[in-house]
Amino acid sequence: MKIRKKMKRQINFNAGPAALPEQVLQQAAQAVIEYAGTGLSILELPHRSREFKEIIEECKALVRELCGLDNDYEVIWLQGGGRMQFSMVPMNFLSPGASAGYIDSGKWAADAAKYAAFYGTVSILASSKDIGYNRLPQWPTTIDPSLSYVHFTTNNTIYGTQWQSVSGTSVPLIADMSSDIFSRRHDYSKYSLFYAVAQKNIGAAGNTMVVIRKDMLASIKNTLPPMLDYRAQVKENSILNTSNVFGIYVSLLMLRWTKSQGIDTIERNNISKAAMLYDAINKSRLFKAYVTEPAHRSPMNVCFTAISPEAENDLLSLCAKNGITGIKGHRSVGGFRVSLYNAVTIKEVEQLVEVIKELEERG
Ligand code: PMP
Repeated sequence: MKIRKKMKRQINFNAGPAALPEQVLQQAAQAVIEYAGTGLSILELPHRSREFKEIIEECKALVRELCGLDNDYEVIWLQGGGRMQFSMVPMNFLSPGASAGYIDSGKWAADAAKYAAFYGTVSILASSKDIGYNRLPQWPTTIDPSLSYVHFTTNNTIYGTQWQSVSGTSVPLIADMSSDIFSRRHDYSKYSLFYAVAQKNIGAAGNTMVVIRKDMLASIKNTLPPMLDYRAQVKENSILNTSNVFGIYVSLLMLRWTKSQGIDTIERNNISKAAMLYDAINKSRLFKAYVTEPAHRSPMNVCFTAISPEAENDLLSLCAKNGITGIKGHRSVGGFRVSLYNAVTIKEVEQLVEVIKELEERG
């Protein structure tokens, strides 16, 4: 068998599955060989074992700690990704004849609304679709108190916009935090439920974290098959069916890493990374930021376009030459999207900025 030369690790700006810290990858790799003195690989560890229950409990404690929440909130890990949550939220909280409010700030926000329409009436409270989602819509000044809930997306992964703050409402607020969870200091207590797919800031694809306030659980009236019922998933402590044991373990490693870095440091680094890249784009004659309103720009996903197909190809090939991957924009927007999740380092962003500068200097 031919032995392949060890591949140099790429600088990974993919939107998800995304970059993970090398330390986490090494710990995960070690656990695949043998997990914590069990004599088993983590891939062989039964989901009803004592060891896996300990993983679940540590995850729960870390999530509550990182979010500054107490036991009023339940933490569960589900499969089916973001789209499953687009479905479960209305299945559990929307009934025929009732209405839910959705803020349409991007494709994922719009898809969540589309899925909800299977179960009840959807009211779009604000939208920036007509301008290609290149800025956030205006948050509604008044919200109808009879709505079952209001759903929004804290960070719009495809377009690179992020809500800095949203005003409170008496209606339960539900947030898709898939692409900015644990990226900044945040008041999680204003949400009745929030969820995040793991493949950006909290681990590997195939695993979704859902945090739900107990009074919200108590409000569920719909009759549902257990897998789709938040009450049953909470009651069974994320092991109703055969859990994604490995995925949840990788999330635990990411939660420990997040705690060791500290949210303040993570936030500071994320702001610096985005500022550095936006600065290079703003000074560039070849590239232009996609999001028009600077205050709406997300530090997690920086989207920009090239002035010509040549400039676009030049950047792609120079990045490839320099071991930089994952910068192509989403197919619905084109151009570039550089995802700067928590595991991406300042040094890695500096290398991308160097590449952009080199292109600028070519003239
Ligand atoms: N919400 C957001 C904010 C996303 O970025 C994505 C895509 N990664 C999704 C939901 C959809 O997730 P999934 O592909 O797991 O359904």
